[in-house]
Amino acid sequence: MAATSLLPTVTASKAIETSFGDVVAAAVESLQAMCNDPELQQAAAGALQNIKNLRHLALVYKPATAAGLPLFQRLAAEFNLSCSSASTTDPNNDSSSSSSSSSSSSSSSDVHQPAGPSAADEQHICEIAQLLQLHGGASWDLNVLQLAERYGQQLLLPKVVLAIYDNLDICSRLRYDRQQLWANLVAAESLYYVCNPYHNALHAADVAVSVFGIVQRDAAKLKPTPEEKAAMVYAAAVHDMLHTGNSNSLLKHVAHPCVQQAGAAGAAEFLSAAAAAALMQQPGMNFVPAAAAADFMSLVQDIILGTDMAVHKASLAGAAGNHRQRLISVVHFADVANAAKPLAICKPWGGRINGEFSSEAALWLALGVPPPAHLTSSVQAAQIGFITNIVQPMLKEMAELVPHTAALALADCAANVQYYQAQQ
Ligand SMILES: [Zn+2]
Repeated sequence: MAATSLLPTVTASKAIETSFGDVVAAAVESLQAMCNDPELQQAAAGALQNIKNLRHLALVYKPATAAGLPLFQRLAAEFNLSCSSASTTDPNNDSSSSSSSSSSSSSSSDVHQPAGPSAADEQHICEIAQLLQLHGGASWDLNVLQLAERYGQQLLLPKVVLAIYDNLDICSRLRYDRQQLWANLVAAESLYYVCNPYHNALHAADVAVSVFGIVQRDAAKLKPTPEEKAAMVYAAAVHDMLHTGNSNSLLKHVAHPCVQQAGAAGAAEFLSAAAAAALMQQPGMNFVPAAAAADFMSLVQDIILGTDMAVHKASLAGAAGNHRQRLISVVHFADVANAAKPLAICKPWGGRINGEFSSEAALWLALGVPPPAHLTSSVQAAQIGFITNIVQPMLKEMAELVPHTAALALADCAANVQYYQAQQ
């Protein structure tokens, strides 16, 4: 057997679809069979590394859903991302519910003439808008996961955002194009990975609902303009697009191309901000009037970059006396607010983030690096640590800025910690 003959076998795209354990086992067997030949041993060692690299690439560069693939490929070209053959197969995406509906824009010809919501979509938007009002515009206990059970997961993000915009009367007040907004959000939803248990379009919808609740409840202190409210809700909707479900430190470790592009910014946040800018440039998706578009996107991108946990202390510190920074901090808090909501909301999201943590812990191990401790904690320990070390201090610092939200959320935090402590 020639030294090179092993390589095509293990670098074939099928290797990506096979479970990592199976591929490694097969390669190790080959290695053992050739252990007397140093040249072949070296080739097998290289092959093993190839398997690891391919597998990690397949996981870290998870492909976009079918509807988002053309846009993802365009972004990939723009940002020099390596998606190649891995982008058509997703080992974790077998149960994807991303089948395209009539109103999804999955081809470039579709996006030139956005269809807008169907009559059935409009009915759902209307019902969700009423639910938001039922919750007194506060929506602290509006459960997006329950909305997904009621209305389906697909298109829920566009429906929730349109319901919020309708409640705020954004499109008629600011002359935003509602059909293009819908097309933009349908595409945005397709740029979330349904295989991520946490960082998916439902999380984005949940954050948008939280932002809406905060700006309504604490409008007297925050004093956001209609344009700012619109940007905050839209930023919430798109803030984790293309999120791989992995931390920035793992992206850095595998030298993901967006790490270099991001510079000082968080890599995942940079990718989402870049995707947001690219989306707005797509024909039929620029819903903001030209005169207001630059300011809108500037705030949206600052907000997205501000959701990086690495900058949250600086973000909070800068919020004192700085109106724009306050708005950024509000969305940053909304991003973690599920831990500060009633247990019926907090608990499923806690389970979801722990699922993602477990997957990342496995990746670190496969890379030969001990995973950070929080990735292998129990869900109880992880939630208690997150709430007490991050969310509660954040809320205390923001109490003056968003007093009504802080009162509600601090009470829920205390109850959630008590629940998890009892479970330990
Ligand atoms: Zn997020």
